[in-house]
Amino acid sequence: MKGLVKSNAPSRKMDRFLRGLAMLSGLAIAVSAYVDWRTFRIETLKADQTRRILATTERVLGALKDAETGQRGFLLTGDSRYLEPYNSAQEALPHLLETLSSAAAVKPMQAARVAQVRALIIQKRAEMAQTLNVRRDEGERAALAIVKTNRGQELMDKVRSLCREITENEYADLSEHSRQAQRHADQSRAVTILGSLILFALLVSEKAASRLIKRQDELLQELDESRQRFQMTLVGIGDAVIATDSRGIINFTNPVAQALTGWDQDEAVAKPLDDVFRVVNEITRTPIESPVTKVLRDGAVTSLADHIVLLTKSGNEIPIEDSGAPIRDRAGRTIGVVLVFRNITDRRRAAQDITQWKQIFDNAGFGMAVLNANGERLAAINAAFAAMHGFAVDELVGRPLADLAAPEWRDELLAAMHVRDSDSVHRMFEGTHVRKDGTKFACLIDMTIFLDAEGAELYRAAYFSDISERKKIEEATRESEERFRTLATALPELIWSSMADGTIEYVNPLWREYAGWPADQGAPSDPWANLLHPDEREQYLGKWSSSLNTGDLFEMQCRLRRASDRNYRWFLCRAVPMRDPSGRIVRWLGGCTDIHHQIESADQLKRTNEALRRSNADLEQFAYAASHDLQEPLRMVAIYTQLLKEEYAAKLDLQANSYIDLAVTGARRVETLLKDLLLYSRVSGAQTDDDELVDANDALKKALLNLEVSISENTAKVTSGVLPKVRIPEPHLIQLFQNLISNALKYRRPEPPTINISAERQGERWQFAVADNGIGIEAQYLTHIFGVFKRLHGHSYEGTGIGLAICQKIVDRNGGRIWVQSEPGKGSIFFFTLRAA
Ligand code: ADP
Repeated sequence: MKGLVKSNAPSRKMDRFLRGLAMLSGLAIAVSAYVDWRTFRIETLKADQTRRILATTERVLGALKDAETGQRGFLLTGDSRYLEPYNSAQEALPHLLETLSSAAAVKPMQAARVAQVRALIIQKRAEMAQTLNVRRDEGERAALAIVKTNRGQELMDKVRSLCREITENEYADLSEHSRQAQRHADQSRAVTILGSLILFALLVSEKAASRLIKRQDELLQELDESRQRFQMTLVGIGDAVIATDSRGIINFTNPVAQALTGWDQDEAVAKPLDDVFRVVNEITRTPIESPVTKVLRDGAVTSLADHIVLLTKSGNEIPIEDSGAPIRDRAGRTIGVVLVFRNITDRRRAAQDITQWKQIFDNAGFGMAVLNANGERLAAINAAFAAMHGFAVDELVGRPLADLAAPEWRDELLAAMHVRDSDSVHRMFEGTHVRKDGTKFACLIDMTIFLDAEGAELYRAAYFSDISERKKIEEATRESEERFRTLATALPELIWSSMADGTIEYVNPLWREYAGWPADQGAPSDPWANLLHPDEREQYLGKWSSSLNTGDLFEMQCRLRRASDRNYRWFLCRAVPMRDPSGRIVRWLGGCTDIHHQIESADQLKRTNEALRRSNADLEQFAYAASHDLQEPLRMVAIYTQLLKEEYAAKLDLQANSYIDLAVTGARRVETLLKDLLLYSRVSGAQTDDDELVDANDALKKALLNLEVSISENTAKVTSGVLPKVRIPEPHLIQLFQNLISNALKYRRPEPPTINISAERQGERWQFAVADNGIGIEAQYLTHIFGVFKRLHGHSYEGTGIGLAICQKIVDRNGGRIWVQSEPGKGSIFFFTLRAA
């Protein structure tokens, strides 16, 4: 290029022209660079200023909140520690406000807002100072009354709202600065590219070009840095920011906005805001008016309505709070909108949590109270607590807890509350409380002390239960236990109780004495082992463990060893389970009754009965043998007396003959007597279930056959109905019929005898009746005649007096009964019962 310049005049001229052009281009680039540098400087300063305003506004709000928190803490508790945050915030505020004012001084609108904030803060500080003084001088109620006017809250709300406006304006400025910087960078790039092209075209010297390019690069780099600083500011902000142009087309989103919406910067940029920032009313689900439209229309900072949810790209819903502000150029024209929004899920959840816990507290079914540090005063109480004491909630808040304690318990309560025991933040007391109407009730207090990180007490929470009913039940249980023990001591029984698994928990003194257990010691681990007789031990323990498993009543006779003489005595041991309302066995109650005497008496009785049975058998054997053996010699006497009469009657005189007749008659009578006695003694043997079944019709037929002669001699009429089958040996039934019918024939009246035999069912038995129309029996002899040898008409009628005794014995042996109904001169009915088939 140097060669070309030196080659000729026209080219030198051209060269000069070109050089001139190059210098002009260089100058243009330099001027552009200078302007960019200036712009960059100004923008940097502005960005710093914006950051300072944002940070200071936040600190002012923070300090004010600290002051308010301290104020509320002191108002509620009276604890001067709460004044520490209050005081330090009060100290910091003037300086912070000063800083904010100077930062905002160059922006008239912001300066005006800051001035308003300052004025409001002065009022707020005055209000706080006033409430604190009232709390100190006039107490908690008066101070809370001022708080309840909401004046402080209103001031605070105004400050917040102004601060938000300041913040949002600064966000809008930031965005605008960023845009300006971008524009400058673009312009600068264009000038530079154009100039560079010219320079290269004019073959400017490498040195100049490189210097210019280097400068250009430096400027570009500085511009880039400037833009990055703006970006960093927006990027580093905790809120989501989206900027759009005046048509609502997105040109910037910060990372928080990207995370919340789910749209990357690249995806979102150049899209209409409504595509990315989709918001609906959380309750009605209707879409919300686009904030861009709203800001462009109102031309001012604007907030969206409440209950807004953002629909993210993936379809999730996030509750948000947002505001929009216009971006204006130097001429004041609105060239875009900046939208600032934040996720309020956590805040809302926290608010819901607080509401929920408050509801739980207020509506809990048991009394709850929050007490201030040291637990002296009731800071908050729920309805159940107030109702339990007969008060309204308002009547009790702020009052000392000790007011509710019965006078006799007050000191104890205070002492218990003030025990300094750092290990125990939880305590429980039972005491007596008084209701508004003066009545008292037993109260259980379960109190927890809440401490801060340094271990200082913050407040206490406690729940209160009216335990009067429980106390009554405890008292009743104690009394019933007492009664049981008294009874158990008084009874001549061995009494014990065990747990559900059979472990002995109580035995009465008699038991201890009997078993030889010392009074001051519990039951041995295996209480039954040494007590039970070895013969019954295994069975007893088996039965007992089966009762423990099944819950069935336990009962067994067994021998227990008496410690005093080591003798075993018979007991009837019983145990019954005691169940709770759900049916679960809670314990067993047992008693052992001494039945030693009964058992021994029963044994004795058994032995006596056995002896009696043997002696009866011997007696019957003897009677049988005697009557049998006497028959033979008697028959000899009868035969020989008969022979004597037959052969010597003619040789003997009348007197001798009559003696012989008397001897014959006597011998016959004795013979009959012996026969009857033999019959009587043969009726023996006890009834058994498998006794033979007899058809009474057959038995009657056989009896009538035996009496055939006598019936016809007496011209008697014997009738009978259909008779049943009964359980009795057949000879016995024949004998019964025979004896009763022969008596009916014998004890007849002059007219012909009529005899009727019938039977009727009576439950398990048949009742037979043998009725006659004979002479009848006097009422006083109706039972007498069944005895052996008992006769009423001894002289006029032949007989031995054994017939009815035999009937009685037969019926007895067969499990029945015999009796007679009679009317003298009219007849008799003999009844007897026998077991049915
Ligand atoms: P005996 O007939 O041998 O005297 P029983 O033992 O058969 O002995 O009768 C006892 C007594 O009962 C009889 O002596 C009689 O006085 C009275 N007696 C029995 N059966 C009848 C009857 N059917 N009518 C009236 N009296 C009777």
